[in-house]
Amino acid sequence: MVKSNPHLTKLQSNYLFPEVMKRKRAFLEENPHANLISLSIGDTTEPIPKPITDAMLRASQSLSKRESYAGYGPEQGSLDLRLKISEHFYRNKITADEIFISDGAKCDIGRLQMFFGPDVTVALQDPAYPVYLDGSVIAGQTGSFDLKANSYENLYLLPCNEKNNFFPDLASSPKTDLIYFCSPHNPTGYAATYDQLKQLVAFAKENQSIIIFDSAYAFYIQDPNLPRSIYEIPGAEDVAIEVGSFSKMAGFTGVRLGWTIIPQNLKFEEGQSVKALWNRFISTIYNGASNIAEQGGLACFTSEGKKEISKTISYYIENTRILKQAIDQKFETFMDINAPYIFAKCGPRSSWDYFNELLEKAHLITVPGSGFGKQGEHFLRFSCFGSRSDIELAANRLLNL
Ligand code: PLP
Repeated sequence: MVKSNPHLTKLQSNYLFPEVMKRKRAFLEENPHANLISLSIGDTTEPIPKPITDAMLRASQSLSKRESYAGYGPEQGSLDLRLKISEHFYRNKITADEIFISDGAKCDIGRLQMFFGPDVTVALQDPAYPVYLDGSVIAGQTGSFDLKANSYENLYLLPCNEKNNFFPDLASSPKTDLIYFCSPHNPTGYAATYDQLKQLVAFAKENQSIIIFDSAYAFYIQDPNLPRSIYEIPGAEDVAIEVGSFSKMAGFTGVRLGWTIIPQNLKFEEGQSVKALWNRFISTIYNGASNIAEQGGLACFTSEGKKEISKTISYYIENTRILKQAIDQKFETFMDINAPYIFAKCGPRSSWDYFNELLEKAHLITVPGSGFGKQGEHFLRFSCFGSRSDIELAANRLLNL
């Protein structure tokens, strides 16, 4: 018999979203006619703009002709796409050579965890997107789990709550090899300021840590003074990796396309280039994103593509405004809108209690904040992806709760 991977058995609880889905199914079994509205998993709902799907259609059709058929692509992904990403998101400060096209941010976070191996220590925001913690556990980076302390040996949670304005207190944070940092942040929706990211970069420099910066929601930032990339901070290219995604930007959650930046300057302790080793690693275990998805990605940068994407993002932001107005009447929220999520403090009871209450009384599915970490207890996360009519109906139900 084959023994199970011991790291997998260290995972602490059911993965959050399957548990939400389980409760939804159980509710529907008892209430088959309930018109449930999902404000839970952060999946996009608006169709992909036609100029972008047209480009994917053309790419797909070209594969059926001998003269235009293409098999494996370049290891780092399409050069044209890397040049566009470099120009549009990084004003060429990050070069195409430092960009690696992926099949999505989550997939590359998992690969980064495998890349850094089991011997690194890790810090992450609490609450956080679950893959940072669970992926680190699976990669064997967390060490043993101490039941009494309810914590992992090599993993440090950086509390982010209303007391510290949802930004970790770095002065009391430990030195670790890796620091995951997400901005705009899932689940709280908080977007770090330029000064805060400057502090984070200085902290990483001082401790010789590497930041893994998740910018999956950068396009939702409404305040023009807020940074959209860690590389807006001078010196970040010495200490930070950034993962980006077309998922929430262009509705590519099912198409699958993203990128990872490994700057030229980033070095391991022994002086070895992280980028060179990543290149070696990625070309061993990964064969690149779909060439059809890459053509869709390229179409996002045409003037039509950009116009349509910006319309869709404005639509979700308007959803967020509508929902926030209703939530503010019932619960406490703490920040401006710079993400498609609202993190609301509901009261003294547990997050799952409020989850059940909203499910039973308002037929709304949310996500309990505690599922993202201890600091999320008493909170619910509301996702603002959805049709306008559903969002308006959800807002009405909340107001009548
Ligand atoms: N990063 C964060 C913070 C997310 O919330 C999500 C998806 O919800 C992802 C990454 C996943 O991105 P992708 O679809 O590119 O894998």
